[in-house]
Amino acid sequence: MANEQTEGLVNPFQLTDEDGYSWVKGNLHSHTTNSDGRPSPQERLDGYVHQGYDYLCLSDHNNITFLDTVACPDGFTLIQGVELHPDNPFGGQRHHYLALNLKEDMDARAMPPQHVIDAVKEQGGAIWLAHPHWSSVNILRDILPLDGLDGIEVFNTTCRVAGRGDSSVHWDDWMDLSGRLIPALANDDSHAREEDRRDTYQGWTMARVKDRSAGAIVDALVSGASYGSTGPEIHNIQIRRVDTEEDKNVLFEATVKCSEALRICSVSNVVGAEYWEHGDTFEEATFVLRRDSKSVRFEVIGPDGSKAWSNPFDLTGLARGEEI
Ligand SMILES: [Zn+2]
Ligand SMILES: [Zn+2]
Repeated sequence: MANEQTEGLVNPFQLTDEDGYSWVKGNLHSHTTNSDGRPSPQERLDGYVHQGYDYLCLSDHNNITFLDTVACPDGFTLIQGVELHPDNPFGGQRHHYLALNLKEDMDARAMPPQHVIDAVKEQGGAIWLAHPHWSSVNILRDILPLDGLDGIEVFNTTCRVAGRGDSSVHWDDWMDLSGRLIPALANDDSHAREEDRRDTYQGWTMARVKDRSAGAIVDALVSGASYGSTGPEIHNIQIRRVDTEEDKNVLFEATVKCSEALRICSVSNVVGAEYWEHGDTFEEATFVLRRDSKSVRFEVIGPDGSKAWSNPFDLTGLARGEEI
């Protein structure tokens, strides 16, 4: 695709309630007794239902936990998926991919990674790079040779238990190296029982959808109409072009509205910025972005240290006078 390098993601904050959109909260990564998780598939599902989530994927290792093996209440969306582990021919560890909306099992452990990606796409599924920080992924070595991965898991609760929960530097690295804006998920990767209070209900992805079908939710995630969080809510992000009087050079201004925050960072493809009020909390911040910025994403840090990650915004269209 000739346009891929400058193609932006969907801005979820421009999808309005009036047009029928709403936020749904979910976790795309969880394990059960069908692989190395402690609770049964039904117990895992019931836990997320009772916690007020809207959607969940039972993403057991290697084999799909099929939706017809559990009783899912009306109004809750189960996404059928699996965590796949093709060999890594490039030198790094065996891959961890989350495949969503998958219909049939495949023997991914015996397949090269590109064949796995292609096979998931042939089934109409989406495929994500899971927890690259935990897996010691080197993006240049392990991921750049591949084509078709839909996005990255920027946060993973069970990997945080092991000290490597946040993969945001891998995310920026991948976008820099590929010239492509990549959407992110925040997930639990829950293995333990909820009473262990170890890796459940701490990382989730908010998706902006018109309907709650698994297809609509995964489409929203792939298009970027989402944000990940371990606590903060992002209410709105507006980015505008500001033409200065003197030299007609283009600047950008971005306003982030959110739940109570201690700090917000703008992370640009060039230099970003930090906004904070010296320890006081706030719910709105405005950033001036450098005129040579091509993209920007935001991280909101709550007073308890929890974090939310927006998807990146393409600024190249805005520079040309288009809306984003
Ligand atoms: Zn994994
Ligand atoms: Zn996992």
